Amino acid sequence: MAVRHSDALVKQLAVLLLGGRRVTALTGAGVSTESGIPDFRSPQDGLWHQADPRRLASISGLRADPQSFYAFWRWRFGRLAEAEPNSCHRVLAAMEAKGLLAAVITQNIDGLHRRSGSKRVLEVHGTYEQCHCLDCSADYPAPLLWQNLDRGQIPRCGLCGGLIKPRVVLFEEAMPPVFEEAVAEIQRSDRLLVLGSSLEVYPVAGLVPTSHARGAQIAIVNREPTPYDHLAAVVIHRQLGEVMAQLAEELSLPVR
Ligand code: NAD
Ligand code: ZN
Repeated sequence: MAVRHSDALVKQLAVLLLGGRRVTALTGAGVSTESGIPDFRSPQDGLWHQADPRRLASISGLRADPQSFYAFWRWRFGRLAEAEPNSCHRVLAAMEAKGLLAAVITQNIDGLHRRSGSKRVLEVHGTYEQCHCLDCSADYPAPLLWQNLDRGQIPRCGLCGGLIKPRVVLFEEAMPPVFEEAVAEIQRSDRLLVLGSSLEVYPVAGLVPTSHARGAQIAIVNREPTPYDHLAAVVIHRQLGEVMAQLAEELSLPVR
């Protein structure tokens, strides 16, 4: 059978990864769309075409209109809780198990990398599975938040009365300490595999030029072009599920 152009690109991707001393993956919402979780910026079904990010995903939005903020996140978390890892998550976990991947840096808050068996996962935008007080940062179990919302109550901190929010990084919020670890991981790696990210959200998108500047080879797999495609040695504009299944074959990984 003749090799299609895109198959040749996946072979190039495998060669690039196998030639690395230390490979790190950087993932975005696109790795979870095939698990049924909408991303933010896809042209048709991205969440930001239906919702206003400044109001529903920012600190000022939470303070100004907690009702709308909580209604949106409650709906969203229902979707997240139902989702299962897909083949992209599984291939990354299998790569790590085989010593072909050092870490996954993810912008996703859905926990699916951890659930699929990846061990070193740097969740630089936090996780929906934990909650904390916006004012004093006290930790709260996530179910408490949802129980309050189910009763129609605004969830407030027992210590200071502040609003309780999921431990996800909102607009206007500082990055968590794990972001420094991600930067260090990028500095140590000579290969960067970017999957399913529009690379429009900073400071995470800035990890790509940082990686390039330190001499790493970069591969990007994303349905649409990104602002950093020109820095990558391999760019594949296709659906991740297909590409990762082919990559698993190229790397002889036992994944379906
Ligand atoms: P984004 O929405 O900006 O970009 C996602 C990219 O993935 C798009 O360019 C799209 O073309 C591509 N894509 C979507 N499905 C794909 C598929 N099946 N195969 C190949 N490419 C596909 O997302 P981002 O870059 O991660 O940044 C936005 C922010 O979104 C992050 O802060 C993240 O926290 C948040 N987010 C997270 C989740 C989640 O946890 N699953 C979901 C939505 C948004
Ligand atoms: Zn508090």
